[in-house]
Order: sequence, then C-alpha cells, then structure tokens
Amino acid sequence: MTQRVLIIGAGIAGLTAAAMLASRGHDVTILERQAAPGGKMRHLAIGEARIDGGPTVFTMRWVFDEIFAACGTSLPEHLTLQPVEVLARHAWDGRPGRLDLFADIQRSADAIGAFAGAAEARGYLDFVARAKKTFAALEAPFIRGSRPSPMGLVGRAGLGGMGRLLATSPFTTMWNALGEHFQDARLRQLFGRYATYVGSSPFLAPATLMLIAHVEQEGVWLVEGGMHRVARAFEALATARGARFRYGADVAEILVKGGRAAGVRLADGEVLEAGTIISNGDVAALSAGRFGQAAAGAVAPVPRARRSLSAVTWAMHVRTGGFPLVRHNVFFSGDYTREFDELTQQARLPSTPTVYVCAQDRGDDDSALDGPERLLCLINAPARGDYRPIPDSALAEAERATFALLARCGLTVERDATREILTTPTGFDALFPSTGGALYGQAVHGWSATFARPGTTTRLPGLYVASGSAHPGAGVPMAALSGRLAALKVLEGH
Ligand SMILES: Cc1cc2nc3c(=O)[nH]c(=O)nc-3n(C[C@H](O)[C@H](O)[C@H](O)COP(=O)(O)OP(=O)(O)OC[C@H]3O[C@@H](n4cnc5c(N)ncnc54)[C@H](O)[C@@H]3O)c2cc1C
Repeated sequence: MTQRVLIIGAGIAGLTAAAMLASRGHDVTILERQAAPGGKMRHLAIGEARIDGGPTVFTMRWVFDEIFAACGTSLPEHLTLQPVEVLARHAWDGRPGRLDLFADIQRSADAIGAFAGAAEARGYLDFVARAKKTFAALEAPFIRGSRPSPMGLVGRAGLGGMGRLLATSPFTTMWNALGEHFQDARLRQLFGRYATYVGSSPFLAPATLMLIAHVEQEGVWLVEGGMHRVARAFEALATARGARFRYGADVAEILVKGGRAAGVRLADGEVLEAGTIISNGDVAALSAGRFGQAAAGAVAPVPRARRSLSAVTWAMHVRTGGFPLVRHNVFFSGDYTREFDELTQQARLPSTPTVYVCAQDRGDDDSALDGPERLLCLINAPARGDYRPIPDSALAEAERATFALLARCGLTVERDATREILTTPTGFDALFPSTGGALYGQAVHGWSATFARPGTTTRLPGLYVASGSAHPGAGVPMAALSGRLAALKVLEGH
C-alpha cells in the first residue's frame, strides 16, 4: 500500500530514505529549510569557485553501492569515484619531516619505518590487524543492524561473539590502546585523530573507534565534482523515482493526532498531512521541543555535556606555497593532551590547534599549482555555539595560531578576506538547530555512549529518525545507513 511520507531534511540520511522509499513506490516529499540538498555536505561559493564546506573524506563505498542497488540502479551511473593512493599527508609542529599514509598497507609500513623506525612499523602492522578485527566484530551486529542494547549486541554477535566484542577493547581508551602499538607520540597522535571523525577525544573514546582507521584503510575516494555531488546524485535519483523536494520549507511542528504523528506545520503556517514522518535533523532538536511539545518526548534528551565536537572552518580560494599539499593534509599541534584538555575539559578553543587542510583541487599529485586553489581548513572546537559563543578575541587568537602553525610547517597561505568564508560553532548551530554546533550528534566517550544514540523508531508511532546523530553513528556513510534503516522500518510497515 502506498504510504504518504514526509521527510524533514535533505541531509544524506534523509536523501537515502527518500530515494529508497520513492523507489518502492511511496509518495515521498522532502521538506528542507535550506535552498539545496546535502545538509552538512554543503557547497560554499567564493566567486566562481565551489568549495565543499562539510565532509571531504569519502569512505565505505560499499554502503552507497548497496543503497543505489536497492533503488534499482548502480553507483557508477550516478557518481564518478576515484580512489586515492595517499590517504593523508601529516606534518608536526616544530618537528622536521612528514609522513604519508597510503592505501597500500605495506607502503605505509615502509614509510612509518623510515619515519620512526622498524619497531613502529611493526606496531603499525599489528594496529592495522587489530582495527580490522574490531570492524569485523561490529559490522554485522552493530553497523549494519538496528540499534542493539548491550545484551542484544552480545546475542547478535553469536557464538564466540562475546570474545570478539571484548577484543574490541570497549573499556580501554583509544589513547591507551594506541600506546600498546606505538612508542612514538607522533604516531599515537596520528591514529588517535580518528576519534575526531566522530567528534570525540582519543583520550575519552573507547579503543573500539580504531575501526575508523580500518574504514579509511579500506579506501578513500575522490568524488568527481566534490562531495556535494553525492547529495545532488541522491536528489536526482529520488526525483526520478517520483519524490518531491521542497526547499525553503522550514518545519516548525510535527502534528500528532490520536497518539500518532499525523503531519507537519511549516513556519509559514502551511499544514501537510502524512502518516509517516522521518526526521533527519539532529535528534537533539526533537527532544529540545523544536518540533513542538507533542514530539519532544519521542526521543531521550541529549545533555549538552554529551555533545560531540564542533569546528571552526575556513573555506578559501587562495594561492598557497611552500608545502607540497595532497588532497588530505593534517598539521599536528605539539601537545595533543593539552589540545584535548582545552577542548573537552576547559571547553575552549585550543591554544595551538591541530589543523586539517583539504586541498580540493588536488589528488595524489602534490606539484605546485599555478593559480589560487580551493581549501577547507578545519580546527576542532567545543560545541557551545548556542549558549556560549566564542568571543571575537578568542576566535582571532585561534585564527592566528592556526595559520602560524601552518607557516611553521612550511605552508604559506596568501589570505584574502574577500576569498574566505568562516564558519564557527554558532554558525553550525544556526544551520543545524539545537546542536550548539556539534557536528556528529553525541560524543562517543566511554563504552556505553555507542548505545546512547536513538534507534530508528521513536516513542511516537509514525515518527522515525534518520540522522548522523542516531544509530549507527556519524559520518556520511553511517548517516546513510541510518537513512536505510529508516526506509526499511517504514517498508516493514512497523
Ligand atoms: C566540517 C565537517 C566535516 C566533516 N567531515 C566528514 C568527512 O570527511 N567524512 C564523513 O563521512 N563525514 C564528515 N562529516 C560528518 C557528516 O557530514 C555528517 O555526519 C553527515 O553529513 C550528517 O548527515 P545527516 O543525514 O545527519 O544530515 P545533516 O547533514 O545534518 O542534514 C540535516 C538536514 O536537515 C535540515 N533540517 C533541520 N531542521 C529542519 C527543519 N526544521 N525543517 C526542514 N529542514 C530541516 C537541515 O537544513 C539539513 O539540511 C563532517 C561534517 C562537517 C560539518
């Protein structure tokens, strides 16, 4: 039976649910308050240049292969992907040399050996094997499945599952576990940074998050046309299957009738009725009452203290020099302990931040470019944009520290205020309401945090969530999996 489905938000999870449900003949309307799809996967315009201002690292291709297949098509019909050889280039403040990590494990081991010695190369190979086992232990019972309880997870893992789950070291911090593999603080820092892919601190996150290293090792892809193209591809697919997109449609309330979700009211007063609503905004917006009191109890509240990290980003179209950039580059601060203490304990911008630079006109080739190039520079920030915005003086200081660190590592950036777009946690909060700028839902701090994210169904019948802030977690592919789970629940006629 055809259902009328309203999807609030055209982020990747909303887009996935839309494409899958429309492909199965449902009557789908996507209501998006912005003027374009993608949510965090947004494009920023600086003159003629279009710069990805959100996610830049495309991983877990299989997720998208499976979703396109479920919609009766294939990924290559919609997107052109090219694997990178150099996963990322790393440099350290005040330390000579740099280290590349490669798609080829042995090549990385050789590079690590040359950079930090044979023992560290062996430690790396052990670490890679451990990260792979961690991913394997969680792929079927957690990543692909609906949200389990801790006991449910053990049950799903099956015979011998308990041992495999415990081997993921959920009760050890990532930082301590990395110490079992690396003596060199720089390498601990490099691999600890994977915790920030889900807005968490390596000093508080469980070692289980090592699985992110495996995900990246499995393949990082460049998307022709940029990451925003992924959103456009889903928009085109969903439209071709009959879904309707309404941009500038700001949902103000989820309407409830007879104890069930029954429709939405837009900010301009228009009412749309439907028996199935999928909410793609951050789940914190639901519990904070952004969609009205009736929907507020649908999911558990998200305490501010549990928010994942935010960021300060500079999208730029500028000339660079000095440092041979590849697509993904990381410039590490000299003191990671202090950096995360400042971020998570003192809730302030780091005095010397680690800086990620995505050079969007480059792949593996690091030759100098002739003209200006597209960069996204990012530092981590606490997610307090809604109630404690960063003072201008602190922002100016962090900006100075950011570009000074790049300069010390050899990268000169010819800055031009007219060719830059700055986004702060307050800016992210305005784009993604009730988050304070947190970009990945709740932080994964402590073993139980994984289970704190809501699942697909809510306490309000007819209302589902599909989001990087829900199960199975943050990041473009994980949010897409959340969208798939929502579509499957609706198709099951839950
Ligand atoms: C700077 C940055 C870097 C990142 N880097 C990476 C990376 O390299 N790799 C990776 O995999 N992930 C990365 N991420 C994380 C990734 O982008 C997110 O996890 C993922 O895109 C979240 O998708 P989502 O489906 O939860 O929706 P979101 O992208 O959060 O979109 C939600 C949508 O809902 C809309 N909405 C909200 N409220 C309403 C309303 N009331 N009415 C109508 N519409 C509404 C919003 O406008 C938005 O379009 C990054 C994120 C950021 C911001």
